[in-house]
Amino acid sequence: MTTCAYCGTNPPIENSHVVPAFIVRHLKKNNPEKFIMNSWALRKNQDALKGPYLCGTCDNVTFSAWESHFKRAVFDPVLDGKAAAWSDEASIRFLLAVVFRYMVHFLETSPVDANREQNADFRDFTKEALADPTVVGANLFVYPYQYRPIVSECGFIPGVNHFLQLSFHCVTLPAEDNLPRAVALFLPEIIVLMTDKCLAELPGCDLVNPESLTLGSTIDFASANLAMPEFLRVLINRGVGQTMANQKTAGLWGEIDYDGDKLAHPDRQFYIALARDSELQAWQRSNCRNGDDGGSQ
Ligand SMILES: [Zn+2]
Repeated sequence: MTTCAYCGTNPPIENSHVVPAFIVRHLKKNNPEKFIMNSWALRKNQDALKGPYLCGTCDNVTFSAWESHFKRAVFDPVLDGKAAAWSDEASIRFLLAVVFRYMVHFLETSPVDANREQNADFRDFTKEALADPTVVGANLFVYPYQYRPIVSECGFIPGVNHFLQLSFHCVTLPAEDNLPRAVALFLPEIIVLMTDKCLAELPGCDLVNPESLTLGSTIDFASANLAMPEFLRVLINRGVGQTMANQKTAGLWGEIDYDGDKLAHPDRQFYIALARDSELQAWQRSNCRNGDDGGSQ
């Protein structure tokens, strides 16, 4: 890239962030070995995705301001179980900005041609919405989900809590059956689905009570988008499987000195997730038939 993917004027800096630094710091802090285990790459990652995509001003000033706002207004409150300001303009812009950067990153680095057209379209949709956030809810639909522990369901591989609490990822979902084109963004304890058509009007859409974010809207997370994990179950289970393979490849499975670290840092999300996944495993042993993929209980 010769010019910044966002402003199109300044040259890009060598390593602008795809995933914001505060997410990476959070993952490192909550992991006993201080690196990111869940990036779906078969190696130990010390850092998030970066690349020569944005100029210094866009990365360090424009995007950075949305990141700070989102961390304070949404990310920290969600982790603390408090109400979050999802529909603030800067919060919405943050979500658009992360997906925008992922699309740029995919277009620059993915050897897979199949999703190029869709990735280019979502790059353009999110860029357009960054310039005018009022199109969110009109041309582009944003469905947020706040993580809830999964401890009593048959359809998920134990490891799902670890995956949803301590990973980041973004996946392009081509149109399928009745479903529109979509991008699924996973951040710690947050899933955001972006689509190019409204899910509420679609017959046969499994996402019960879909509610999309718009400027200043209020989303009742007690009822809206609750079935998001089930809706993305195949994708999530694949991610859990890859995460476990990743950890085995890195020689970590069972080798981390959990006990010593756990005594020193019992509040790390890593241990909370591990306990929930053990609970899920025990529940499944007594409640699910072999090969049961019946989803919820
Ligand atoms: Zn720029």
